[in-house]
Amino acid sequence: MTLLELADVRAFYGRVQVLEGVSLSVPDGGAVGILGANGAGKTTTLRAVSGTVRSTGTIRFDGKDLHGLRPDQVAALGIAHVPEGRGTLSDLTVRENLRVGAYRRKDAKAIRADVDYCLDLFPQLKDRIRSNGSALSGGEQQMLAIARAIMARPRLLLLDEASLGLAPSTAKAVYQAIGRLRTESGIAMVVVEQNANLAFTLVDSATVLETGRNALTGSTAELKGMDEIRRAYLGG
Ligand code: ATP
Repeated sequence: MTLLELADVRAFYGRVQVLEGVSLSVPDGGAVGILGANGAGKTTTLRAVSGTVRSTGTIRFDGKDLHGLRPDQVAALGIAHVPEGRGTLSDLTVRENLRVGAYRRKDAKAIRADVDYCLDLFPQLKDRIRSNGSALSGGEQQMLAIARAIMARPRLLLLDEASLGLAPSTAKAVYQAIGRLRTESGIAMVVVEQNANLAFTLVDSATVLETGRNALTGSTAELKGMDEIRRAYLGG
């Protein structure tokens, strides 16, 4: 079953159109990558889904049209957005940030179990549970942002450049944890990444955006075999 479908999505900042017709299909439990250079429209595509930029075209989640919904209404349907720059709350502790992620939920026992799950997924956070968000390293902030999104029990995770600014070993650890999450939870994912090598460890298929349009779409295996992808994104 298709969980998220985008067809001919156009998006606008004021009068400036930055998406010129983007299409994307995410099966339930699937993981789809969005690759592309700076400014290609990757972040804006995620924003069109989460309702934080004006858009036209088809955006359907679980059969429902998302147009006209506020970001909190989109989130309530089961879509969690981990934005570039992470957005963890710097004045709150790690534990408090995790609780904020669960603010819509009332199932206290399951919330506690999910906190434990997040700390098992990201063991570094366990040692920092009482630290303020502002005291965390970049990698720990990224882990916390993902963990906070997990706490909402989403059906779809929108991940924007989870590797940005991280040391290669940290970025790899973050992607390994996301891969484990995917296997264990079945949460579907849209993964925006400039680092295609990392994205390809996680996603089943991907689309490459160029100036607000799909330039290439294919399975991970197909894309890895294409010369233009190897040259532009895989360093060879
Ligand atoms: P990056 O990797 O740099 O984040 P991206 O592929 O995610 O790139 P977007 O952030 O979606 O690209 O940007 C697409 C286009 O929209 C760019 O030309 C950018 O300058 C423009 N843009 C982004 N945010 C705004 C904004 N708030 N107002 C006006 N233009 C914007």
